[in-house]
Amino acid sequence: MLQVVKGQNLVGMELTDLRQLLGPKQPTYRARQLYDALYRKQVADLSEISTLPQALRIQLVTDHAVGLPEVERRFDSSDGTRRYLLRLEDNRTVETVLMPEEARDTICISSQVGCPVDCKFCLTALMGLERNLTAGEIVGQVLYVARENGLKPTGSRLNVVMMGMGEPLLNLDNVLKATRLLGDPDGIGMSQRRITVSTSGIVPHMMELGRADIRPKLAISLNASTEEQRRELMPITRKYHLADLMAACKAYPLRSWERLTFEYVLLGGVNDTDADARRVVRLLAHLKCKVNLIALNPGPGIPFETPEPERVIAFQNILRRSVPCFVRKPRGRDIFAACGQLKRVASDLVAID
Ligand code: SAH
Ligand code: SF4
Repeated sequence: MLQVVKGQNLVGMELTDLRQLLGPKQPTYRARQLYDALYRKQVADLSEISTLPQALRIQLVTDHAVGLPEVERRFDSSDGTRRYLLRLEDNRTVETVLMPEEARDTICISSQVGCPVDCKFCLTALMGLERNLTAGEIVGQVLYVARENGLKPTGSRLNVVMMGMGEPLLNLDNVLKATRLLGDPDGIGMSQRRITVSTSGIVPHMMELGRADIRPKLAISLNASTEEQRRELMPITRKYHLADLMAACKAYPLRSWERLTFEYVLLGGVNDTDADARRVVRLLAHLKCKVNLIALNPGPGIPFETPEPERVIAFQNILRRSVPCFVRKPRGRDIFAACGQLKRVASDLVAID
């Protein structure tokens, strides 16, 4: 008899979970064979696992599923970006975005359905939080999109960023479990250097992330240059003050090859002045980091404007004197796939079936 709840999906289980699932009567190498089939071979169906004895295979097929998400809709942008609306088991949907580039491919995945953090410039915020994703649902987005597009997770081309819907550090256990699964050389085999998690600044969970042995790289959405401004744009700042956030960044245990990434969404006439840029320079002094500037991606119900391109360049030039600073190209704006534009309803868009 299998030990866990009937119907449970297998993607998302680590080796220890699979051992428990198979129970003490099965030899321990069976769990490894199952793990190998799920994550290294990435079988689409449990009946394909020919290494397992037939009786066990039948039992697995009867009681369980691999558990990858299904596609509800796919939107293709003129710039090559693909936005997927993926359906989970409870029929809720999340967004996953593939951004192919010449030298690399990036999959931007969600960590929650919606988001409880109320940032004033972000469309996902308008949904509120529906629920956390399981580790299997986080990993499943990568496996699904990689398979659909013939991408190899083991190569050096593929990057995963947890910058879709949700605040990953409010779902840290599942995010860490998903990272272990993605990064396991005996399984999916991505390098943990190619996985990044982005946070709005959940300070205590940043410390917890820093303590994990296997963990993604950390990006912090700064988005403001003063406490007051950040409170207006990101009300979470009332709970986790800017000074505490910066102290947590200073104390963060970077690995030798790692640096922090700060993201800064530029809102025209709000946080994009030269004085803001100089204050950001002061905030980041002595940190091993880089900055990604993102000109606001507009959306319905977002009460801000995109700054003029010259303003973005001027802001970048001030930062650049002290810290590596890049401007993130907007990707897939025409299909609402760009940062902060992820919200499931997009009835004005054409789906590609
Ligand atoms: N919740 C996490 C990760 C998802 S948001 C976080 O906030 O970091 C990913 C990035 O998109 C964040 O840096 C966020 O500041 C940015 N973002 C949100 N809304 C945006 C918008 N309308 N235009 C541009 N970037 C936006
Ligand atoms: Fe949530 Fe990030 Fe959007 Fe803020 S920017 S509401 S934390 S998804």
